[in-house]
Amino acid sequence: MTPPTTTTTTPQPPIAIVGAGPSGLILARLLENAGIAYTVFDRDASASSSGGQGGTLDIHVADGQQALKEAGLISQFRARARGDSPTIMMDKTGKVFLDSAMFASQEVEGEKAHADRPEIDRRDLRDLLLGSIPEGRVRWGVRVQEVFRGQDGLMGIRFVDGRVEAGFRLVVGADGAWSKVRRLVTSAKPQYSGFHFLTTIIKPSNPYHSAAASVAGKGMNMMCAHEKQVVMVKLGDESYYVGVAMALPESWRQENADLLANPSQLGAALVRDYLADWPQAQKDVVGHADEQFRPWPLYAMPTESLSWETVPGVALVGDAAHLTTPFVGEGVNCAMYDSLQLAQQIVKHGVDDLTAAVAAYEKEMFPRGIDLIQRSAKSGELLFAPDAPRGWLKHHVGIEVD
Ligand SMILES: Cc1cc2nc3c(=O)[nH]c(=O)nc-3n(C[C@H](O)[C@H](O)[C@H](O)COP(=O)(O)OP(=O)(O)OC[C@H]3O[C@@H](n4cnc5c(N)ncnc54)[C@H](O)[C@@H]3O)c2cc1C
Repeated sequence: MTPPTTTTTTPQPPIAIVGAGPSGLILARLLENAGIAYTVFDRDASASSSGGQGGTLDIHVADGQQALKEAGLISQFRARARGDSPTIMMDKTGKVFLDSAMFASQEVEGEKAHADRPEIDRRDLRDLLLGSIPEGRVRWGVRVQEVFRGQDGLMGIRFVDGRVEAGFRLVVGADGAWSKVRRLVTSAKPQYSGFHFLTTIIKPSNPYHSAAASVAGKGMNMMCAHEKQVVMVKLGDESYYVGVAMALPESWRQENADLLANPSQLGAALVRDYLADWPQAQKDVVGHADEQFRPWPLYAMPTESLSWETVPGVALVGDAAHLTTPFVGEGVNCAMYDSLQLAQQIVKHGVDDLTAAVAAYEKEMFPRGIDLIQRSAKSGELLFAPDAPRGWLKHHVGIEVD
C-alpha cells in the first residue's frame, strides 16, 4: 500500500543536509557558525543509535584537523583524541615491518605521516560534532527515499513513510555510500571492489582480550598475509575493534545470514577456513568475538563519474560524492574537508547564489575525490598482494624490506 503523503508547507531553512555522519554534522556546525539556517535529516532513530562503522579514525592535519580547526572544534577534538597510539604492521610470521616511530620519520605522500594523526573513536567524533550545534537541528528517524525538484524550482525531500518536506534552496547529500541524493547528479553506481571487511569487538571481560592486547597494545596492529588482513585497534573503552579483510563474493552477506547471526560460529569458521595457518593470537581473537560480525562489502565510485555539470539545488559531500575503499584511511578526513570547502563557498557566495557556490566547490572536489579513489585502489592492491606488506611499504613509505 502506498503510504499517505503529507507535505510540510511551513517556511523552510534554505539548506537541508541529508545525513548526520561526519560530513553532514561538520557542515551543520560551519553553517551554524556562519548564521546560515539548515536542517539535518538522518535515518538513525537517535544520536545514540548510530549505525556507523564503529572503530577509530585517525584525523589528519591537512584535511580533517583543518576542518575541525575552522569549525572552532580543534581543542575539544584534541581533548577527546589519543595521540599516542602506535601503529604496527606485520606479516603473518609476526615480523614487524613498520611501527609508528619509524613512520613518523618518513615522508609519506608529502606529509610527515602519523606524526600528528590523533585517533578518535567514531562515536566520540559524532558526539563532539553533535554537541557543537543546537539540539533540534537534527531530525532523527527520517529515512529519505528521494529528493526532487518541485514546480516552484525549489527542492523537496520524500521520506519512506510518505511525508514530504519541500521548499529548500539546496539539498546536500551527506548520506554516505548509498546516497539517495546522488541520482540527481549522476547515474553512476558504486562498484564492488571484490573485498569485504568483517568487523567485531573484543571487550575487556573477554578471556581473549589479552591476546588482542599482546599484539595491538594501546594502538593498532595490522597483519597482512595470503591476500588477507587482520586489523586490531584499541578503543577508548579498552575494547579492541577487530577487522578481517579478504576477497569474498559480493553476495557473501546474503548467502551467510545464518552464520552472521552467530558470532562464535562465524569466528570459528573464519579461523578454520581462512586463517588456519595464522599466528595463535590472531586466531584466538577472531575466533572469540563478543559481538556479531558486521559485514562491509567494500565499494568505490567509478572515477569517471566525478565530472557532472552542476545541478542547481544539489550538492554531494563525503562518501556520497566519492565513495572509496578504506585502504588509505582518509575517507572521513576527505569527507570533512569537502564540507569545509562547501561551507566556505556558501559563505562567500551567499544563500542567494548557491549554484555558484556549489560549482566552485565541485571544481576542487572532483580531482580530490578522484585522487582518493585511485590511491585507495592502489593501496588495496598492495595490501592484498602475495608479498604484503612489502610492496605497500615500498610504494607508500619508500623503504625496501626483505
Ligand atoms: C570498514 C570501514 C573502515 C573504515 N575506516 C576508515 C578509517 O580508518 N579512516 C577513514 O578516514 N575512513 C574510514 N572509512 C571510511 C569512512 O567511514 C567514510 O569515508 C566516512 O564515514 C564518510 O563520512 P560521510 O559523512 O560522508 O558518510 P557516513 O559516515 O556514511 O554518514 C552517512 C549518514 O547518512 C545517514 N543516511 C544514509 N542514508 C540515509 C537516508 N536514506 N536517509 C537519511 N539518512 C541517511 C546515515 O545514517 C549516516 O548517519 C572506513 C569505512 C569502512 C566501511
